[in-house]
Parts: sequence; structure tokens; C-alpha cells
Amino acid sequence: MPRKFIVGGNFKLNGSQSSLKTLVEGLNQGNLDSNVEIVVSPPFVYLDQVRKAVRKDVAVAGQNCYSKSSGAFTGEVAPEMLKDIGIEWVILGHSERREIFKEADDEIGLKVAHALKAGLKVMACIGEKLEEREADKTTEVVVRQLAAIAKHVSDWTNVVIAYEPVWAIGTGKVATPDQAQEVHKNIRAWLKENVSAEVAEATRIMYGGSVNGGNAATLAKEEDIDGFLVGGASLKPEFVTICNAKAKM
Ligand code: PEP
Repeated sequence: MPRKFIVGGNFKLNGSQSSLKTLVEGLNQGNLDSNVEIVVSPPFVYLDQVRKAVRKDVAVAGQNCYSKSSGAFTGEVAPEMLKDIGIEWVILGHSERREIFKEADDEIGLKVAHALKAGLKVMACIGEKLEEREADKTTEVVVRQLAAIAKHVSDWTNVVIAYEPVWAIGTGKVATPDQAQEVHKNIRAWLKENVSAEVAEATRIMYGGSVNGGNAATLAKEEDIDGFLVGGASLKPEFVTICNAKAKM
């Protein structure tokens, strides 16, 4: 079965009730390709507003969640709470969580396990830093991060991998289609070898890092690029162009 193209919009720490109302109205009026799965991810406090307002063929994701259901964990949000307000997805292991908030591979693995158990679908992010790429360690890093996630996954149906080279995130320096394809191919090969051929074939691998309305269609042509995780451009009208990147080919 062909893998359904998927595009996520990660709003990060951006937005207000009013700006997100406008953004959602734009999406609701947009001519979106029905063959593409679209997921938007506002900050926690706006999840309910966005979920209620956005068209029903667009899903909503939390940008993080904790590895516990409840308890004395001030400031955290449980995946069960996201489910409780009708949220279907969560982004985990984003490089900003790893770098700024010091989330380690193991912790991300536990979060993925718990989110899946709670019934959420997971966009699990992995990707190398510039110095790691320059030291020829891209595969080593990406495989290490992936293995820490895979250790906790027995059913891959609800997992999408987002390959996001850190040097490309928010920098305007997008990976070339060849660079992205090479890593995506290696990720799929790793899944084949370490999980199963079926999982490798079925699991979607999104690319993230400075995707915009101008470069999306070219990247979307690559065999192993099954979608995009979009930061900055997801706050702009060009997000619709990105969502339709595959349809335009
Ligand atoms: C992201 O935050 O996941 C991302 C890819 O950001 P940007 O598109 O702005 O590079």
C-alpha cells in the first residue's frame, strides 16, 4: 500500500487566540489535497481552540507530553490529557526539546511508549547537528536516536518518523533533496534490518528543516520522503502550498 503523504505544522511558541483564529480560517478556506494527511500543532493552551475551529480533515497535535499519566510533575502534560480534549497526535523528541530542555534519548523513548499506550499517534523526531554531520556522524546519531525510540515501540502503526537535521531547522538552510533522501533511505534500511520489512515499507518518514512553499515540491519527489514537518512556514499562508506539494507534481 502506498504511504499517505503527511504534513505537520509545528507552531512552536507562537500564536495568540486572535492570530490562530486567522491562521485556522486560512486553512479552513484552503484548497487542500485530500490525499494528504495534515496535522497542526499549536502551543498547549491553544489546542482546544484550534481543534474546535479547524476543519475536521485536519488533525491537531501537542508539541510534547510527559511519560506519566498524573502526579507531582509540575508543568507537565500527560498524553491522556491530550486524548481527553480530542487531540490525536503528539510531536516528541523535537531537537528544541533535546537541545534546550535537555531531553535525552531514553526519556524520549519513554515518552513515545507512554503516548502510544495512551492512544496518541506520534511524530518522533530525530536528526543530527551540524558538527555531527561535518564529522561524518549523521547515520550514527540518527540510528542512535531511532534505536532509543524503537526499543519502546511494538506496533508502528501510529508512529511517524520526522527526520529533522538540526542545522536546517529555522535556519533557511534546507537539506538538498539528495541529502534528505540519503538519510531517509538509511532510516528505512535500519527499520528493515532491525524491525521488519513490513514496518520499513509502511512507516512514513517526514523531512523537516526550512521547508517552504518554494522547495517543498522538489523534496516531495524523493522516494523516501513521505511528508514534511514544518515550523516557520506553517504560520504563513504558504503552508497550504506545502500541504499540496505532492499533488502539484
Ligand atoms: C521544526 O520546527 O520542526 C522545523 C522544521 O522548523 P522550520 O521549518 O522553521 O525549519
